[in-house]
Amino acid sequence: MPIPTHWQPGDCVTLRYLTRDGRPGMAWPFTVVADTDDVVALFIPAGSTYKRWGTGSDGKRALVDGAWRDDVLRLMFPGCGYSIWLFWRIVDGVRGLAYYYVNMEEPFRRSEIGFDTNDHMLDIVVEADLSAWRWKDAEEFEARVTGGIYGAEFAQELRAEAETVAALIERRASPFCDGWDTWMPNPAWATPCLSEQWDTAIPVTWPRAAWAYRDTSR
Ligand SMILES: [Mg+2]
Repeated sequence: MPIPTHWQPGDCVTLRYLTRDGRPGMAWPFTVVADTDDVVALFIPAGSTYKRWGTGSDGKRALVDGAWRDDVLRLMFPGCGYSIWLFWRIVDGVRGLAYYYVNMEEPFRRSEIGFDTNDHMLDIVVEADLSAWRWKDAEEFEARVTGGIYGAEFAQELRAEAETVAALIERRASPFCDGWDTWMPNPAWATPCLSEQWDTAIPVTWPRAAWAYRDTSR
């Protein structure tokens, strides 16, 4: 099956984190909101079933079903090492943006069933009104650097890219000024489901140069 160059609004796709050896890790179903040359916007409603790391029936670490907790819009940008998530919550019956979450990650790649990426540990949590932001998991990130899991050069690139996003927040620049905060899902959309191929589709090959992990133990 060919890898689609673009998805259509309303399509159901699966987004995966790939492990270093190219196997699927965590996986989420999303409804496509937009897929253009500038931005890919994906929506996962609260209650969707996704795959998270847990304990399998044999007691070993395994991917298990989880129930996703919040309505989340995931914005991704071709070639960029981060995505921006908008979390909505219903408080006293009123739906409102709770916060933004910037997730540093491998620039996304397209697959037969959607998109693949991988988490890069460092994150930024942003107030819904953009009045403040803070790093998340910065200590864990630095531990990966001192532990040799992330090479110094890669870590520097990632810090620089994170600083770029922080500057966008402070300037209230795109995509933070693009009106996504008041976006509403189409009520006709069904809850998205994971592709049956989430665990079996052949992963896109990760170009060596883009593969960020520099684990010297192997
Ligand atoms: Mg993260």
